[in-house]
Amino acid sequence: MGNRTTVEGVEVSTEHWIAGERAGSADVFDDISPIDGAVIAQVARGGAREVDRAVAAARSAFGTWGQTPPAARARVLRAIAAGIERRIPELAAVETRDAGALLRSMQRNVVPRAAHNFRFFAEHLEALGAPDFETRGHMNHVRWEPSGVVALITPWNAPLMLATWKIAPALASGATVVLKPAEWSPLTASLLADIAHEAGLPPGAFNVVQGLGEEAGAALVRHPDVGRISFTGSTQTARLIAEAAARNLTPVSFELGGKSPLLVFEDADLDRAVEQAVGQYDHAGQVCLAATRLLVHRDVYDAFLPRFLERARGLHQGDPRDPRSDIGPQITREHLERVDRFVRTAREQGARAVLGGEPNREAGGLYYRPTLFVDVPPGAEILSEEVFGPVLTLQRFDDEEEAIALANGTRYGLSAVVFTSNRARAERVSARLVAGTVWVNCFFVRDLRAPFGGARQSGIGREGGTWSFDFYADVKNVCTAPWS
Ligand code: NAD
Repeated sequence: MGNRTTVEGVEVSTEHWIAGERAGSADVFDDISPIDGAVIAQVARGGAREVDRAVAAARSAFGTWGQTPPAARARVLRAIAAGIERRIPELAAVETRDAGALLRSMQRNVVPRAAHNFRFFAEHLEALGAPDFETRGHMNHVRWEPSGVVALITPWNAPLMLATWKIAPALASGATVVLKPAEWSPLTASLLADIAHEAGLPPGAFNVVQGLGEEAGAALVRHPDVGRISFTGSTQTARLIAEAAARNLTPVSFELGGKSPLLVFEDADLDRAVEQAVGQYDHAGQVCLAATRLLVHRDVYDAFLPRFLERARGLHQGDPRDPRSDIGPQITREHLERVDRFVRTAREQGARAVLGGEPNREAGGLYYRPTLFVDVPPGAEILSEEVFGPVLTLQRFDDEEEAIALANGTRYGLSAVVFTSNRARAERVSARLVAGTVWVNCFFVRDLRAPFGGARQSGIGREGGTWSFDFYADVKNVCTAPWS
């Protein structure tokens, strides 16, 4: 395959992108498509050497990018957004082949949102500023200074969206970037490097080191010249990164796993609740925000369940490039087996699968049937561990108190979804749920101005809007005594 590969008719470099140039490694790793198990690329397998070179390039570029006036930085960010928009079909096709997301959703939503990430932070940069304020005649003035080199580490489930969500505020703030994409879906990061280059970003301001987490990722997070680490991935990996970051006291931003609840009260619009509950199978459950624990009031449980099953049985599972498909594959065989292990343990612990509960062999090698467990005994593993597959549980509750206790009963706190027609209840319950985001009578309505992140072990810090920009910047207060 050499140092380039052709995926869905699109030519993609399989090398790193360091200091504005392609660079290889002695070793490679196989990139396998979840759609059919085909090896679609052999990608450079970076380690400490490549990380050192990328961090050095980013350090050197910081000298110019960090000094580039905000208006000029904003222009480059807008050019990157335009470059992404010009290449929507290619980016969508490559990421679908690489990560298994539905092609139509990549084309209509995800890739356009990746472009929006850059436009949004261009605007944020231009509007930046806070009113000065006075302390006993002294004037306070807040400044956002560029901070240096930032390390970005992203997961495989939404590679382009999650990478651009970090790269855009980092570059906007004047920082320079080393990105280590996930090894299970590394290709759109490579296309993004081409786009950023064409948009006029100076060499070294954005670098991509491909490779495995325990090699390239670990070398990057322990590097002493890295000034910020922004990581999205599993809680388990976050612990390792936090240990490495502690040694250099590098600030971290973590977006981690979840086991979010979806609450349906007796006064809810059941059609809407059922529709959004079935929507939790999107992307075959490989969504951090997925509300995988359905909690339904006793009075509507018997009406909810058959409607849910009817809708869920109507989902078409298959090749994510096929417009008829609603649900695609699991990312790898290893991941599918992990999902299946959770399902088997749930059964052994007494839960009853009323939907799915096994791989979908008709659809192909890596497809797992949408699964729903009922009668789950308290304390069962399936109620507390993140599966990251199409596996939901359904539990009854008697009243608001019990609903909140069940909802808050895990070590996570990423999101929560509430269905009720009672506004006072919605406010009461939202206030008591432990979650970074609560959606009331809706799901996945996203706005970059809103903070996004997790409570408890779902994360540290918030992304979006001012929250991510401030993380990458060095925020400074200048306090000046009265001039005589
Ligand atoms: P992961 O933690 O296995 O890997 C994430 C990234 O970390 C990859 O790039 C990987 O190579 C790298 N990595 C692995 N070990 C490392 C190490 N020792 N040092 C440095 N980097 C290392 O996670 P994953 O399986 O790719 O993604 C799934 C997880 O991500 C789920 O838990 C999911 O909930 C979470 N996630 C969270 C959000 C969010 O916004 N909260 C979004 C998407 C996914």
